Amino acid sequence: MTTDQTANKSGQPGDDPTSKYPKPPFPRKPQEVPGTEGAMDPKADHGEQSYRGKNRLTDKVAVITGGDSGIGKAVAIAFAREGADVIISYLDDTEDRDAQDTVRYIEEAGRKALSIKGDISSETHCQKIIETAVKEFGRIDILINNAAYQMSRESLQDIPAWEWEKTFAVNIHSMFYLCKAAEPHMPPGSSIINTTSVNAYEPNPTLLPYAATKAAIQNFTANLSQILLEQGKGIRVNAVAPGPIWTPLIPSTIPDHEHFGENTPFERPGQPVEVAPAYVFLASDEANYISGATLPVTGGRLTI
Ligand code: NAD
Ligand code: MG
Repeated sequence: MTTDQTANKSGQPGDDPTSKYPKPPFPRKPQEVPGTEGAMDPKADHGEQSYRGKNRLTDKVAVITGGDSGIGKAVAIAFAREGADVIISYLDDTEDRDAQDTVRYIEEAGRKALSIKGDISSETHCQKIIETAVKEFGRIDILINNAAYQMSRESLQDIPAWEWEKTFAVNIHSMFYLCKAAEPHMPPGSSIINTTSVNAYEPNPTLLPYAATKAAIQNFTANLSQILLEQGKGIRVNAVAPGPIWTPLIPSTIPDHEHFGENTPFERPGQPVEVAPAYVFLASDEANYISGATLPVTGGRLTI
């Protein structure tokens, strides 16, 4: 089966998962940060045509950072089709079209949607996201801390100090701000899910600051899980660790993205739609007894 034949053929039961989606090499099409879906080649699959909900999140209220594109978009579409109202946050004007597209899919699923633009490295902006969600929807049942920044650098000397600080501010400081602001509005049975990475286990030498934040997120997830459970809040805290996934983050931050995902046993990157079910599961009542865990979705790359 050729790459062309497989490109749009998502989610057919019984297919070989290793050949279900496009395999590298891909065209070299670099983008500016933060990147957009429209400029990607091949296009990513967020489950637009394939994801079927099963009422796993009926009437829940979910906040998803970075919900405009990539993994966050696939999670937003899946959550809406599972019955949740969804607030997405994203960075800037260049992503307006991606955000509008996600909102459209949420509304087409019959759910309420809201999008909030701005930089989550600011505590004030994180508080605004939570305040808006609570004002519009009354509470928060699911908080997905998913937005992140990374940049490839060849050596230690190539990493500016501002970039080190920015990477931590966007990737991990924001989680503290958002969790702190959201917790008082999360009833028992709520769930926080943080996006970490295979880089927490196997750090890529070209992604030193990013990989360090992803390791910090693992520790933060485990510890916050203990804090909230010991205090009887009834809020579960987990993480998802994706392997290489085909999203705007990749052509906007990885120069040799033509070969992205070849370093997995699947010899291809995952699609956002292949990651979303992990978030659905962890957010749902089916994961009632799971907290402090990290679920790897890595195309066979090991995290043991
Ligand atoms: P993506 O570019 O589609 O999503 C990241 C989003 O983060 C962007 O849409 C952007 O709106 C948002 N963002 C970035 N900086 C921000 C800021 N300062 N303030 C507010 N929002 C900001 O890429 P993605 O790959 O779907 O990334 C989602 C998550 O998945 C990230 O945490 C990333 O680290 C993680 N992840 C991705 C991969 C991969 O290969 N794509 C692998 C492992 C983990
Ligand atoms: Mg985006």
